[in-house]
Amino acid sequence: MKRLNLILAIIISIVATFNNSSFGQKSSPKHLPIIDVHVHAMKVNPAFAADMCPWFLSSMPGANPNGPAPTFINTDCALPLKAARSDKEFQDSLMATMKRLNMTIIASGDAGIIRSWQKAAAPGRVIPSISISSSEEMTVVAFTDSLSKGFYKVMGEVAPQYQGMSPSDQSLDGYFAAAEKLNIPVGIHMGTGGNGSINISNPKYRASMGNPFLLEDLLARHPKLQVWVMHAGYPMMDEMLALMGANAYVYVDVAGMIWSYPLEEVNIYIKRLVQAGFGKRILYGTDLMIWPKLLETSIGVIENANYLSFDQKRDILFNNAVRFFRLDENKLK
Ligand SMILES: [Zn+2]
Repeated sequence: MKRLNLILAIIISIVATFNNSSFGQKSSPKHLPIIDVHVHAMKVNPAFAADMCPWFLSSMPGANPNGPAPTFINTDCALPLKAARSDKEFQDSLMATMKRLNMTIIASGDAGIIRSWQKAAAPGRVIPSISISSSEEMTVVAFTDSLSKGFYKVMGEVAPQYQGMSPSDQSLDGYFAAAEKLNIPVGIHMGTGGNGSINISNPKYRASMGNPFLLEDLLARHPKLQVWVMHAGYPMMDEMLALMGANAYVYVDVAGMIWSYPLEEVNIYIKRLVQAGFGKRILYGTDLMIWPKLLETSIGVIENANYLSFDQKRDILFNNAVRFFRLDENKLK
């Protein structure tokens, strides 16, 4: 009997949660809109398509320099997220989720993949972003040309940190100047690198180059540049808050950190940003790569955050991005 009561209580609470969340709205069949500002469009490589356990950085035990290298992701959990095995599988799954959750995405990476997604999605729901992290990838003239053609609406992910370089490095200045002139918002990777990034695959990566204060010179040189700090400068909270306090145009996204670092830590970080007064400047992002279900996993963190009000959740999942990217919200509802 006790067990039956327990089962009944669980069923009732599941039904209640479902009805309360925007996933299961009774009155409207449409999910409240979501904008994911941080999606990577990449060709699926089956050889590297490993499954992944969210919040896998809950344990970073370290490694011995003379032993095996540390592993980047953890696949050892009850329900790892499955990696897509082909471009088609990934696209079909992404499109289905975007439709069901009423999503718009900002996608950078392979232009062919982005175009294919644009064809498959509803109009305006896939916004192309151009990524550049070093002057060796493209000249400033070619970059400006690319932006002027109108396909790309956003610049990012810019990730000089992986080259051990500051975002204020003069070698990138011409690109940022072009974005400022053309009124193109810019997303810059700052902070996160995972466990042993330097030891595994990014020897030039420097944790210190993720310090949000390194943006100050860039922002001073380009007072009209609209920057959002990808990964919210994790874990450099104090610097992030100070930078945002001094620079009213700076936003952050919570991509990547939201599903890789320990969940409690993620919630403390987001809560602190909101508590410090920046709830209107947090953008939702996934850092989606090869695991289609990562969207639901990551969106769930915001949906289930008991420290956020309904309005604060809507700001993070939609309203803040509409404002930052100057989107037409009526077309995305
Ligand atoms: Zn990044």
